[in-house]
Amino acid sequence: MGNDIHVAVVGGGIGGLAAAVALSRRNINVSVYEQAKTLGEVGAGIFIYPNSLRQLERMGLKDALAAVGARVGDGSKYRRMDGSVVGSILTTDSTGWNGMYGMHRADILNVLAAHIPANAIYTDHRCVDFMQDDQCTHITFENGKTTQADIVIAADGIHSKLQKYVVDQLPPEYSGFRAYRGLISREKLPDWYPGTHQVWMGENKHFMVFPVRRGELLNYVGFVPTINETIESWSAIGDKDELTASFSGWDPKVGELLTKVENCFWWGLYDRKPLNRWVNGRLTLLGDAAHAMLPHLGQGVNQAIEDGVALAVLLEGKSKDDPIVDILKQYEALRHPRTDLVQAEARQNGMRYDSRYTDLNQRDREIADAAVFRRVLYDYDVERIAMEVRDGL
Ligand SMILES: Cc1cc2nc3c(=O)[nH]c(=O)nc-3n(C[C@H](O)[C@H](O)[C@H](O)COP(=O)(O)OP(=O)(O)OC[C@H]3O[C@@H](n4cnc5c(N)ncnc54)[C@H](O)[C@@H]3O)c2cc1C
Repeated sequence: MGNDIHVAVVGGGIGGLAAAVALSRRNINVSVYEQAKTLGEVGAGIFIYPNSLRQLERMGLKDALAAVGARVGDGSKYRRMDGSVVGSILTTDSTGWNGMYGMHRADILNVLAAHIPANAIYTDHRCVDFMQDDQCTHITFENGKTTQADIVIAADGIHSKLQKYVVDQLPPEYSGFRAYRGLISREKLPDWYPGTHQVWMGENKHFMVFPVRRGELLNYVGFVPTINETIESWSAIGDKDELTASFSGWDPKVGELLTKVENCFWWGLYDRKPLNRWVNGRLTLLGDAAHAMLPHLGQGVNQAIEDGVALAVLLEGKSKDDPIVDILKQYEALRHPRTDLVQAEARQNGMRYDSRYTDLNQRDREIADAAVFRRVLYDYDVERIAMEVRDGL
């Protein structure tokens, strides 16, 4: 017992909490330190895709997620701005499993938090300093407390404070786009396409809608170009008139939905180029801290969940006597190529959605072929692959 490793996760977002669930499911001691006074997320939706739902279900979260998710399936379409269909959106893996939910961020965060021992989550703990030696790590918090751990996982998001202890930190890159987003009660749009993801693609803009919270709410996101940088936040209040004006003249279905918007948030879109490394000694990056990406594949959270599973598999059964630094490097070697690919493809997909192609027929062909890449994304089984790495297969 005294030789068991202790992992400190800095950041209690979806990535940090999912890592904590994955680690504790494999009997690894874990504590989560979150800067906010309470765990929480504001109203907005995300997609959970088969590549991460498969992992979450294996962690025992199947029923809890089914109780709050909105299954998204057949009838999901890519459309031009006038509503004409370009192609279908893949909503299954290669086995035909429809492992795809629209989720309210708060719902998935609550599910994850409920599966971590309550005494393992420390809120109001903003990490302000990090040190390490050959034996362990030392973390200092703004509230004056300190702690030690064998490993620190920095899951502290795109503006990671801990990233600078791993790489020379550059600011995130602004994409020139902002996302307006919000939720509308499904009751207000009874004729809306049920249980589907709909994407409209116009010149330099795109709009999407999918259900969350058992289908009771519709999550919409409008992506528009901006001259001024927009802050990166889930809670900045957006201008709904600007949103409506941005999509005037589009498919009447979009116009109808926009008449129901009462308030919206906006979010500046940033990413980073792949980092040179994710690991320095006993400190490793995870989620947006490691691989901030544009949301045009909806994979940021999904990749963070995969990261946590990979770490948990590689650390399972290890003790303080094991070569922890080498195991973290194994994690980086396993995860870095996959997230590099997803980051790059997310940028490219944004070009497609925003019609930034001189030949739109080429764009349409690529959209029609998007299922090929999505299949690669969805079929990936990080647990199996990490086990093969761990067992030297
Ligand atoms: C419009 C939009 C739509 C998106 N849609 C999807 C989607 O459909 N599917 C998907 O998978 N992804 C989506 N994403 C991406 C996704 O939101 C992010 O990739 C994801 O939230 C990253 O999770 P994370 O846990 O790494 O970081 P975060 O969610 O940013 O969490 C970081 C946590 O660390 C805490 N923290 C920060 N600094 C400190 C500190 N010093 N000490 C302690 N705690 C600290 C923060 O308070 C926060 O709780 C979308 C993004 C955008 C902008």
